[in-house]
Amino acid sequence: MTRKTAVVTGASSGIGAAVARQLADAGFQVFIGARRRERLRALADEIGAVALPLDVSDAASVAAFAARVPALNVLVNNAGGALGLEPLAELDEAKWLAMYQSNVLGLARMSKALLPQLRASGAGHVVNIGSVAGLETYVGGAGYTACKHAVRAISETMRLEWLGEPIRVTEVDPGLVETEFSLVRFAGDAGRAAAVYAGLQPLTADDVADAIVWAATRPAHVNIDQIVLKPTAQARVDKIHRL
Ligand code: NAP
Repeated sequence: MTRKTAVVTGASSGIGAAVARQLADAGFQVFIGARRRERLRALADEIGAVALPLDVSDAASVAAFAARVPALNVLVNNAGGALGLEPLAELDEAKWLAMYQSNVLGLARMSKALLPQLRASGAGHVVNIGSVAGLETYVGGAGYTACKHAVRAISETMRLEWLGEPIRVTEVDPGLVETEFSLVRFAGDAGRAAAVYAGLQPLTADDVADAIVWAATRPAHVNIDQIVLKPTAQARVDKIHRL
């Protein structure tokens, strides 16, 4: 029997690396992409995946990546993140554009580029990593929440446009997950990043990966539309109980 195949974008850290590991454990042949090649190679060696350089904000990089992928069962559009927490009055267009490039256009580019392979497998599945930031907003979060609201819109549109085809679409919306997300958001300020997770038990990357792999391993006629998962100590995106 041929192995099922999966692509995970942004697999060099956090949720992406955890999903790649768990999909490999579940028997998938995994293709992993990100910009930091050393990390990617180390993970590929560990789990027997195929590591390919990928910058989802670059159309040529996406095309080169897609050309290496065979018939595909699962595409996990995970690459992305937040840059900064400035209010609108201090709008930084470069950060907004970079967030839009990775979280929104990157997700759309990858999905378009790999659609032929998803069709060719006869049982395709696109898993889009959104966020509770796609369901709510918060002060200083307009740029990032706008991107994740867009992920919601695109996920729904995919389901409409591919209706009648054997392609499932799942949106996964996590709350606080302790990864490098906040370190990237705050440009390497480790103290500020640690404060985001202080006094509560956040989700781990493995918690989110577990939900993704569960959705991906349901029978082909079962489409899990959306999974929202948050730490027990988080009621809303900005309503958190800290000890
Ligand atoms: P992370 O540890 O910072 O990982 C982000 C990953 O995205 C890295 O592997 C990074 O790899 C990759 N990436 C970023 N821009 C990319 C690009 N242009 N091309 C290719 N890869 C790119 O953060 P994370 O928490 O795992 O984030 C993963 C996803 O979950 C993101 O979409 C994020 O918005 C979402 N999310 C996170 C949380 C949270 O609290 N952590 C909550 C909700 C949703 P390279 O830098 O090596 O390219």
